[in-house]
Amino acid sequence: RISDDAQEVLQAYDWMTKFYHHFLRYAKDNKEGYQYFKDRGITDETIDLFKLGYAPMSTNFTASFLDKKGFRLPLLAKAGLLSLREDATAVDRFSGRIIFPIRNHLGKTVGFAGRTTTGEKPKYLNSSESELFQKSKLLYNFDLAKKQIRKTGEVILFEGYMDVISAYQSGIENVVATMGTALTQVQARLLKRYVDTVIVCYDGDDAGIEASYKAAKLLRETGCGVKVANLSGGVDPDNFIQKHGGEYFIEKIVHASDTYISFLMRYLKRKYNLSNEGDRIHYIEAVIREIALLDSVIEREYYLQELANEFSLSVDSLKSETETVRKKLG
Ligand code: ATP
Ligand code: MN
Ligand code: MN
Ligand code: MN
Repeated sequence: RISDDAQEVLQAYDWMTKFYHHFLRYAKDNKEGYQYFKDRGITDETIDLFKLGYAPMSTNFTASFLDKKGFRLPLLAKAGLLSLREDATAVDRFSGRIIFPIRNHLGKTVGFAGRTTTGEKPKYLNSSESELFQKSKLLYNFDLAKKQIRKTGEVILFEGYMDVISAYQSGIENVVATMGTALTQVQARLLKRYVDTVIVCYDGDDAGIEASYKAAKLLRETGCGVKVANLSGGVDPDNFIQKHGGEYFIEKIVHASDTYISFLMRYLKRKYNLSNEGDRIHYIEAVIREIALLDSVIEREYYLQELANEFSLSVDSLKSETETVRKKLG
């Protein structure tokens, strides 16, 4: 059973979500948040579905709204919904930012992300971590995505809120995102319960490819099938979808995503200088270590053949090397 305090916090999150959303949508003298989303190609329907909002510039407007509703402000501050000033007054930590309510699997708001529209640092600010709001355990949009995730047996994993929102708006509904932290085992296990395949679709920059490697590895260890999309040139899924549309994204990015080993080959090629003989051998050994971990004989053969072709080696020598590695693994 949920405690009275937790109940009050959940209710406050609910009111704050409505408050921010209403402010974004209907405040006559403040169009900043609304205009920001419009400029990024987000429709009214999507704004309403995701309850996107804007936190008023005045830091005590939100607190006084909650106070009038009868909420205990010290409790809300303790739970991370409001910030405490030095004089102990509770104030809005998101003032002047656009708001992404973060929902749990039941669709209840349990935290917020606030993004600057003016280039302030940090770009995104989150509610502080609490019993209710643990970024390492939640996946953004899981509640809305669940139906389509079950239906397709696949989920697309993004880095950011806007990636999810643009994809969803374009009709791709089996989409979730982590929230600025590396994928965790808890999140990987959650996905594993629902899908055969996770398509990791992170940003096409160095940070994105490093994060893809870690996420893909963890998902494999958790027993998930993994594919990894190949965005490049610093593009992220939101950029791509806003520019080319959802259908083109599915065709060019999702359907063209790499299998786990193909991705590893691509990833490892960045680490090694293949025109150098010593590096080339290290690369081949690194790929063999990954292939050796595959359970299926057919998969092992398939990738060993690919590797053999690429470097004009006999597949038999690669096979015996793989078997040696497998024996060591036990
Ligand atoms: P946008 O398109 O609005 O610029 P993004 O999602 O493309 O945002 P990235 O810089 O790619 O932003 O970061 C991916 C995700 O990481 C964000 O959606 C957010 O969840 C998180 N994040 C980014 N910057 C920060 C930050 N300074 N503090 C906390 N989390 C952050
Ligand atoms: Mn990024
Ligand atoms: Mn991004
Ligand atoms: Mn982006």
